[in-house]
Amino acid sequence: MTTRLYYDDCYLREFRANVIETAEGGRRAYLDRTAFYPTSGGQPYDLGTLGGVAVREVIDEDDRIAHLLESPIATGEAEARIDWPRRFDHMQQHTGQHLLSAVLIELFNYPTVSFHLGAATSTIDIEAASLEPKKIERAEERCAEIAAEARPVVITYEDSSSDLGLRKESKRGGTLRIVSIAGLDRSACGGTHVRSTAEIGPILIRKLEKIRGNVRIEFVCGLRAIRQARQDFQTLSEISRLVSVPFEEAPALVAAQIEKAKTLEKAAQKLAAELARREGLELYAATAPDASGVRRVTQKGAIDDATRARAQAFVSGSKAVFLAVCENPPSVLLAASADSGVHAGDRVKAAVTAAGGRGGGNQALAQGSVPTAAALGGVVQSIGV
Ligand SMILES: [Zn+2]
Repeated sequence: MTTRLYYDDCYLREFRANVIETAEGGRRAYLDRTAFYPTSGGQPYDLGTLGGVAVREVIDEDDRIAHLLESPIATGEAEARIDWPRRFDHMQQHTGQHLLSAVLIELFNYPTVSFHLGAATSTIDIEAASLEPKKIERAEERCAEIAAEARPVVITYEDSSSDLGLRKESKRGGTLRIVSIAGLDRSACGGTHVRSTAEIGPILIRKLEKIRGNVRIEFVCGLRAIRQARQDFQTLSEISRLVSVPFEEAPALVAAQIEKAKTLEKAAQKLAAELARREGLELYAATAPDASGVRRVTQKGAIDDATRARAQAFVSGSKAVFLAVCENPPSVLLAASADSGVHAGDRVKAAVTAAGGRGGGNQALAQGSVPTAAALGGVVQSIGV
């Protein structure tokens, strides 16, 4: 059984212990006692070194704690060192979670159903249908007040049978480890915590998400909150530099620019269609009729709205046939005037079906596609215009 030193001293960052057993060729070590926190209760494992070797992961095996190592170590006495910035960050986030959860009960009676401490942000799921912005502000400010009061956070061991006044009832029996924020909260928890609410630093609530009838609240505490606020400021500054207004004015300006861009896009589409129509008419005027009196053109390239508009304008003249051929994706478009003697739909359907493709249309306009560009030559020949 491994003695968990972090239970009684969350600030222990260097310790000596005996490696009493190893597995996996010395890369999985078991100690008589450890300050390494294993992943549990929503809090991730500690990193650090054991006997000078990097600890990659720490796993809770109920009675024992396994330390997964970068390279093998031997049994016997070893110096161990916890990666303190990582651990202290976890302590800030985890104690911040207790504070935020307690404040959400105190202010709105929203109980926390789960907690997850992530690499970038942490989340709690609360039993609430929604959480309005005003409530978020109140919760953040209440957390800041309690942090400023530097309330003691203490760990005690109490018998589960007595009336403990816990925020959330514990399912465990026997002796419970209870983490208390003076005058605010009592929770059964095995995690590592700071000793005063002042050490949590700022708490910032970020994204809210509705999940299975609960609200998931993303938050950051301590140094993470400062770094996040700094990053947000840089992002906003970059946006405000790009749109050349103070960032308070950026949202309204960006919204106006989006509207303007939509209007311009519509105008551009209209102009492109008009241009294509005129191109079709000019092309008709510039194309000489063949011996049978029909004007025919074949164009290569993408088949898009402009191609369709050009083709339709071309065949708006009498005795006209317009064929467009595209290699990628392999496809054709055929337009024919009513007096051309060509049924576009029939011709395209027959030609592309024979080449393993699909398509069709009416007398005046038809489109089709084939599986490969190699089949296009045969299709054009088969359409025979
Ligand atoms: Zn906790």
